[in-house]
Amino acid sequence: MNNIEETLSIIKPDAVERNLQDQIKNEFKSKGFEILNEKKIHITKEEAEKFYKVHESKPFYNDLCAYLSSGPIVVMKLQKDNAVLENRKLMGATNPDNAEEGTLRKKYGISIDKNSVHGSDSLENAKIELDFFFKD
Ligand code: UDP
Ligand code: MG
Repeated sequence: MNNIEETLSIIKPDAVERNLQDQIKNEFKSKGFEILNEKKIHITKEEAEKFYKVHESKPFYNDLCAYLSSGPIVVMKLQKDNAVLENRKLMGATNPDNAEEGTLRKKYGISIDKNSVHGSDSLENAKIELDFFFKD
């Protein structure tokens, strides 16, 4: 049974800064993800605060928002069977030190904050996050 989903991926500033976006996009494509839409943008701190509002109460919230708005990012609408879970699997654990071999965060992540990629964690959040960046 097919279960086509769409999810949001962000290539974070640390990866764009190292010019890894084409390499990371190829990782998605080789795993069967279709990139339905993408754009390179530089968001404001206020936009980052809105995007990461679920983490408002966390001690790392301020740094996280400052970081996501610190440089250009690439936001992508990805499509695949079970895209939400498949993207989370390909990304690996939040902390690159704990991420499995072959995952994007293991390969490219620098640290828990500079972990190269974001991915929606549920279908519900994927819809909200895709709307945030791609609502026309
Ligand atoms: N983060 C951080 N310090 C922490 C936990 C998380 O800087 O102790 C950052 C990290 O970049 C992570 C983001 O906050 O990607 C969002 O955290 P979440 O727990 O949602 O992890 P994710 O869903 O990105 O794996
Ligand atoms: Mg998360």
